[in-house]
Amino acid sequence: MSSPIQALLRAEELPTHWYNLNADFPEPIPPPLHPGTRQPVTPDLLSAIFPENLVAQEMTAERLVEIPQEVRDVYSLYRPTPLLRAVRLEKALQTPAHIYYKYEGVSPAGSHKPNTAIPQAYYNKIAGTKRLATETGAGQWGSSLAFACSVFGLECNIYMVKVSFHQKPYRKLLMQTYGATVHASPSNQTEFGRKVLAADPQSSGSLGLAISEAIEDTVTHPGTKYALGSVLNHVCLHQSVIGLETITQMERAGEEPDVIIGCAGGGSNFAGLAFPFLRGKIAGRKNYRIVAVEPASCPSLTKGELRYDFGDMAETTPLMMMHTLGHTFMPPNIHAGGLRYHGMAPMVSHCKKLGLIEAVAVPQLKVFESAVRFARTEGIVPAPESSHAIAVAIDEALRCKAEGRKRVIVFNLSGNGLLDLAAYDSFLSGKMHESGLDTGE
Ligand SMILES: *Cc1c(COP(=O)(O)O)cnc(C)c1O
Repeated sequence: MSSPIQALLRAEELPTHWYNLNADFPEPIPPPLHPGTRQPVTPDLLSAIFPENLVAQEMTAERLVEIPQEVRDVYSLYRPTPLLRAVRLEKALQTPAHIYYKYEGVSPAGSHKPNTAIPQAYYNKIAGTKRLATETGAGQWGSSLAFACSVFGLECNIYMVKVSFHQKPYRKLLMQTYGATVHASPSNQTEFGRKVLAADPQSSGSLGLAISEAIEDTVTHPGTKYALGSVLNHVCLHQSVIGLETITQMERAGEEPDVIIGCAGGGSNFAGLAFPFLRGKIAGRKNYRIVAVEPASCPSLTKGELRYDFGDMAETTPLMMMHTLGHTFMPPNIHAGGLRYHGMAPMVSHCKKLGLIEAVAVPQLKVFESAVRFARTEGIVPAPESSHAIAVAIDEALRCKAEGRKRVIVFNLSGNGLLDLAAYDSFLSGKMHESGLDTGE
């Protein structure tokens, strides 16, 4: 049943424009503020770390932004990505629900993150940037940017959260294979890293800390700019290709979604799937339930406060209005490294505030039970991050079964888990506990 849909959609053209939800919010989003003056930031402040073309994209309210042909050419290596119906999972659950998943794990790096890495590298290249500095948690973003930099001929310098650096040697090797330089963060490459190491030589690092190192690297090296893999408006913009393709693909499948689900770390893959659908919901044409899923141990949307906070630990970024656990929050070392971030994209936070989306938090063991169930029915080993969305899709499908009614569920399978098998080892051998790593660690 799923193969004809896939075959149809493989032939589909990829989108010509990205969709910007900032054009359609019923109430404008609070602007980022300068931490000193608490006035809205001006483009020149952001230009210290980003090229001007991306700063312009960060601030634009233009509804449709054209995707440059050079970017579409690289997208075409793996886009459009398939939309599949999980018929075997439906059967195993004995549910009347129809479950669809958009599979972003077919990209070179194995996740949705190249969708923004490619345009970010491209815009930097045409702006004259020679070198990009960035951070990475589980390594998905680092490998995506490393790949994009290799395509456009840029150097790439990556600060990788130390716990992942040691846990995920294959992610590090993937980045190095694409030609990037990788440091375990906290590192001795930056003043902030050295300061943290002096206070705590055993520090396992965090995304907020690694961002501080990458920003310091940027402002101390001429020709270098910074790239962020989530959270920011231009990242959500680039990720909209996911939802735009899904809308076309669902139309071709002849179905209308009732429930749309995505996991949320910084919020970008969720935004990518959900925002193009939200356009119809805001216009009053559609009434989707849209659910963001986060880990119970890093619950920024469900337990965090909505307030201005820094994006990084060293307080170098502008203040952003977002759901946050506080910029000094050190999340437990759960296996879904890509969801270990203290904040949430301002655009996703604003959607939550306006009641356009819901959020739920799921504990780690339930996530892996769902991941294994999915692998054993659909065949794809999902990334631990994406498996948060699977857990809620299964809950929804079981609710349909209990209520004896059909609903159409669409979730984003944001990546595959082939480089996360150590996490599966921990689960399958019974060593995993509810929040945090193996009992031995
Ligand atoms: C990084 C990552 C995430 C979380 O990041 P978002 O910005 O919230 O999308 C989710 N899934 C995968 C596979 C990732 O690599």
